[in-house]
Amino acid sequence: MEELKSLIRDVPDFPKPGIVFKDITPLLHKPWAFQKVIDYIGNRYIGAGVEIVAGIESRGFILASALAYKIGAGLAIIRKPGKLPYKTVSASYTLEYGQDTIEIHEDAITKGTKVVLIDDVLATGGTMSAAIDLVEKLGGNIVSVDFLLELTFLGGRKRILEKGYPVFSLIKF
Ligand code: AMP
Repeated sequence: MEELKSLIRDVPDFPKPGIVFKDITPLLHKPWAFQKVIDYIGNRYIGAGVEIVAGIESRGFILASALAYKIGAGLAIIRKPGKLPYKTVSASYTLEYGQDTIEIHEDAITKGTKVVLIDDVLATGGTMSAAIDLVEKLGGNIVSVDFLLELTFLGGRKRILEKGYPVFSLIKF
């Protein structure tokens, strides 16, 4: 895991002064590292019957699509407002740097579908909390809430656990 951790690049003052951005692209550039991440997360779901992996725009898509392929699940995409062409449901949230809304197609998840949610970074947990709200609105059954990396000092994990779902992160800072 330390090997993977060393491939996360800190970019200070991006996208705003005071934010240390955790850049996952050096990890994605290494085929063995990307494969290891997806295998590690995917192997947790062998035999779990996960039907949909839902990824959050935009870096969450990278992980979600590879994970969906790996475990033989469908892919649902959670996007910024106005990006999805069909009918949507939406939820608003506060983020480490600003405020935003996210949306999902109303037919992306049907009632009782087993869903894994995934994003690249767990910071305050605001984005993922809103994503959980979206999946709940559609009646999805959330199996786990996963992240490539977690900024533990921001306490996002507690926020997700309070919603009643297991949280998993591969790399912790
Ligand atoms: P939050 O809602 O605070 O948990 O923020 C999570 C979302 O914002 C994720 O989609 C991340 O991609 C992004 N994000 C927040 N903080 C950072 C950070 N320090 N480095 C990289 N991405 C971040």
